[in-house]
Amino acid sequence: MTVTRPGIENGSATVQNRTGCDITASGRVTPEGGSLEQAPCPICGLSDEKFLFFAFDKMFSWRQEKFPVVRCRHCGLVYLNPRPSRQTRNLYYEGYPCRADRMDQSQPLAHYQPVIDFLARRSPGRILDIGTGNSPFLPAMKERGWETFGTEIDAGLVDYYRSRYGIEIFEGELEDAKLSSESFDAVTIMGVLEHVPYPRLLLEEAGRILKPGGVIILWCFNRGAEADLLGRYWLGFDTPRHFYSFSSKTLGRLLAVSGFEVTDSYYRPISYLAHSGVWAARRFRDRVLGREPAAWVPNLPAFLQKMSLPLGWVLARRESGSNVYLFARKAGRAPAAK
Ligand SMILES: [Zn+2]
Repeated sequence: MTVTRPGIENGSATVQNRTGCDITASGRVTPEGGSLEQAPCPICGLSDEKFLFFAFDKMFSWRQEKFPVVRCRHCGLVYLNPRPSRQTRNLYYEGYPCRADRMDQSQPLAHYQPVIDFLARRSPGRILDIGTGNSPFLPAMKERGWETFGTEIDAGLVDYYRSRYGIEIFEGELEDAKLSSESFDAVTIMGVLEHVPYPRLLLEEAGRILKPGGVIILWCFNRGAEADLLGRYWLGFDTPRHFYSFSSKTLGRLLAVSGFEVTDSYYRPISYLAHSGVWAARRFRDRVLGREPAAWVPNLPAFLQKMSLPLGWVLARRESGSNVYLFARKAGRAPAAK
């Protein structure tokens, strides 16, 4: 993966705080120059939070910045606060593996099978995938007779879907697409909600374009037992690109206040324990040796992946796995005012 490395010259790492945040010994963060922004809990609308830990950029570890992670005292949501502002957040996507030239790094179709199986129980209709990324999901749904649409901010991916599959993708954010009210039977948001600054607004817009009885399906990293155990080392919280670390419980609350009723859930049998452990050990080794911190480990050796399977199954059965799919329908009436 080719990435720009500002702050590292002549092979020696230097700290370059690109958010411009000044982290003091007391752990307080001072925004400077509009590079950081404060954000209240999107579920409660309150800023009453407990500091948990400082997180760092695990994918691009040469960025030696730290970001405060907090937990809302009311609903339990874990999130970054403050976080990179609108002006600076795109900097953290340089080299991010979610582009048309990285289709070989997309999730396999099996990853979407719970969603495909759920939708197979309904008559094919109009489906919108928000933030398509480099995924085989929409082409698979088109093959199954669905009228497929998507939104995506990467122009290369928009061209890729159009030219290769004839799938219409709006280039930009959902709210800018100005889609007609009650015009879709299903909306999917997979691996996206954690990245969105205002997830409640996105869900409410999804509710507006869904037909009565329409369904929404979310796939997110789940803040379960492994996340609590591993803290800042859990690979399911990709800070600072992830603003939120949802659990199935907080995700359900967010859906409820946005006008949805959760009807079903599925926990993918996957464990990040070995993956996070390998990465943390490499980071510790590099710190001891005084080297640039170890980079993200995109794939575990096959034998470690197999060894992780039983733990993944146990966690999934206890509804505490690191991946969750939530299935919800548009509520019959407007959500209660907060
Ligand atoms: Zn809250």
